[in-house]
Amino acid sequence: MLPTIAKLLQVQERDQRLRALQRDLKEIPNLQARAKSQLSDDQAAMDAAHAGMRDVEVKMKTLDLDVQTRQNTIKRLKDQQFETRKNDEFTALGNEVKRYEKDVHDLEDKQIELMEALEAVKVTLKAAQEKLAITQGHVNQELKQLDERQVNIQQRLVEIQAERAEIAAPVDPESLNLYDRLSKNKGGTAIVVAENGVCGGCHMKLVISTLASLKGGKEITHCEQCGRILYFA
Ligand SMILES: [Zn+2]
Repeated sequence: MLPTIAKLLQVQERDQRLRALQRDLKEIPNLQARAKSQLSDDQAAMDAAHAGMRDVEVKMKTLDLDVQTRQNTIKRLKDQQFETRKNDEFTALGNEVKRYEKDVHDLEDKQIELMEALEAVKVTLKAAQEKLAITQGHVNQELKQLDERQVNIQQRLVEIQAERAEIAAPVDPESLNLYDRLSKNKGGTAIVVAENGVCGGCHMKLVISTLASLKGGKEITHCEQCGRILYFA
């Protein structure tokens, strides 16, 4: 094998690793987004529980006001009753008072129902908060691992780039340029093995003259079909 090709094969191996690492690096934001998306169901459950609690609280407040209004009315009616001298008016006011007192009684029943509903919704909210906290813990852990992976990949990239530069340094610029161009055009495989008379890149049968040139080992030999640089294993 030509020493240049041996070097370029090493360059190619580093380039392939660099590309794989860059793919992994590019994938990290997707993985981060996927990790965070695990929170959405739990977050939605908690938002629903919050909304449920607010709903009950609003109903309770309205009910309190309703009770208050009726109690004020009852007080006013009782004052009127106290001041009146007419018997029929006294009776009528008394009936009114009874009617309002029954109202208040009914409203108080509803208040008890709402208090029970509030307790239930608080239990639901607490469970939702706990579930969210657990999921958040898992997600944080996953995000931490992804951050570590990102740092790791970046370090590896720097290391391998340095290795590549070192390996490529003694290669003559013309051959390196040829390799770079081919690598760019041929999906990262510029140099391929020739096995059983077949190109390892395009899998076409190589002609006799190409194989002869390859055997001679004096110059860089290309596949006549795909143009990739050939070597014998
Ligand atoms: Zn080929």
